[in-house]
Amino acid sequence: MAPKKGKKRENIALQCTACKLKNYTTTKNKRTMPKKFEITKHCSNCNAHTLHRETKV
Ligand SMILES: [Zn+2]
Repeated sequence: MAPKKGKKRENIALQCTACKLKNYTTTKNKRTMPKKFEITKHCSNCNAHTLHRETKV
């Protein structure tokens, strides 16, 4: 059973840009989202909403 082609989802981690903690993990489709992904999320370490950036898990 070979895995289906064309549905490559990549595991990524969302890292707080303030404290560098990896707070979230998610998957993204490299085809639809070729650029680096940035989102404002709550960081439990900073106890505030900070910018999180895509990084490797
Ligand atoms: Zn933080």
